[in-house]
Amino acid sequence: MRTTVGIIGAGPAGLLLARLLHNAGIDSVVLESRDRTYVEQRQRAGILEQGTVDVLRAAGAGERMDREGLRHDGIELRYDRTRHRVDFPTLTGGRSVTVYAQTEVCKDLIALQLKEGHPLLFEAEALAVEGADTDRPRVRFRQEGREDVLECDYVVGCDGFWGVARKAIPAELVRVFERTYPYAWLGILADVPPSHEELVYARHDRGFALLSMRSPSVSRLYLQVPEGTDPEEWSDDAIWDELERRFETDDDWRLARGPITQKSVTPMRSYVHEPMRHGRLFLAGDAAHIVPPTGAKGLNLAVGDVVTFARALTHERETGSAELLDGYSATCLRRVWQAERFSYDMTTLLHRAPDAAPFEDRLQLARLARIASSRAAGTDLAEAYTGFPFG
Ligand SMILES: Cc1cc2nc3c(=O)[nH]c(=O)nc-3n(C[C@H](O)[C@H](O)[C@H](O)COP(=O)(O)OP(=O)(O)OC[C@H]3O[C@@H](n4cnc5c(N)ncnc54)[C@H](O)[C@@H]3O)c2cc1C
Repeated sequence: MRTTVGIIGAGPAGLLLARLLHNAGIDSVVLESRDRTYVEQRQRAGILEQGTVDVLRAAGAGERMDREGLRHDGIELRYDRTRHRVDFPTLTGGRSVTVYAQTEVCKDLIALQLKEGHPLLFEAEALAVEGADTDRPRVRFRQEGREDVLECDYVVGCDGFWGVARKAIPAELVRVFERTYPYAWLGILADVPPSHEELVYARHDRGFALLSMRSPSVSRLYLQVPEGTDPEEWSDDAIWDELERRFETDDDWRLARGPITQKSVTPMRSYVHEPMRHGRLFLAGDAAHIVPPTGAKGLNLAVGDVVTFARALTHERETGSAELLDGYSATCLRRVWQAERFSYDMTTLLHRAPDAAPFEDRLQLARLARIASSRAAGTDLAEAYTGFPFG
């Protein structure tokens, strides 16, 4: 099999890249190791930056998002039993975010790809990328028990944190920057309308909590728990009781409870793999970087990477200049490190480390009070949350 761009992975990065290339008249083949149902049901991100929304719309994948997505003009910070709203449009000159689940983004892109796009092969597992530093890189893959080879002009590894693509970059050329955090998120999906119209980020002496949503009738909530927690250790009642404690305020706000339909634990990690390109192999999304979910940046970074790649390849096709392709890694990493910085700040602002001293508790409260009282500090948060420009 032969194509211009071999894409490994049908998460948001791989699917959107295939769509962008299709729109630019460039052919591709997507290899995805899991089946379609699995990819469409995997619960993950839910907050789309303004730039991500604009890209999906321009790519022709925004119709349902525009109908069903929920525009959010702010978030609430909750600490010391008080509430402070950060208003995005006022602080950023009109920007906002959209709540539209990653599952739905993937469903929309898969439907488009299967209807109009180039091949998208499910249950096709990439085994290795070969010849990345040659003119003819190849992906060896297995489908229905048979091994095959996809010959490409370029390979883009969109295969997430556990994928194979980045292993093709020689270790001596790689630098990895990494931090793990001594806590995790216990996340639930519940069939109950969200108790607040916008996301609530709560800092509490017992740990962080987040109130989010997937739709007007489905809530998504998270609790900071110790690293390595088994979700089954937590009964539904214990989860709701703990959420209630951490969101408590001095006014009459109440948390609505409902049936919990899903429970999982997510570890918290920051990770950057440099460079994001080797020869004709490019890395995009979680294959190259991970952020803790506190800043809602992972999916949005993946979108930024593939937009940068699609622009660079289109530029090369139109002008013959490989300048933008050559600059791919440096261009992406500038944005990646801004998101890493913001995600780290949000995480350390709101979570309680197991060994936190009272001094650190007071510092967190001082940082929160600063955001609440200073337009400059509020603007810094609002600009980062609504998103850094692509490229
Ligand atoms: C609980 C949670 C909450 C999150 N919340 C947010 C949020 O609010 N906002 C946000 O922006 N981000 C959030 N994220 C992060 C976001 O979900 C990821 O950053 C995003 O999924 C990255 O997309 P991707 O396409 O790079 O990788 P992935 O979504 O991981 O997709 C990679 C794909 O590659 C496939 N694959 C892997 N190996 C192979 C192989 N060898 N061959 C073929 N296919 C392969 C996988 O099956 C998968 O489909 C959250 C993540 C978690 C876990």
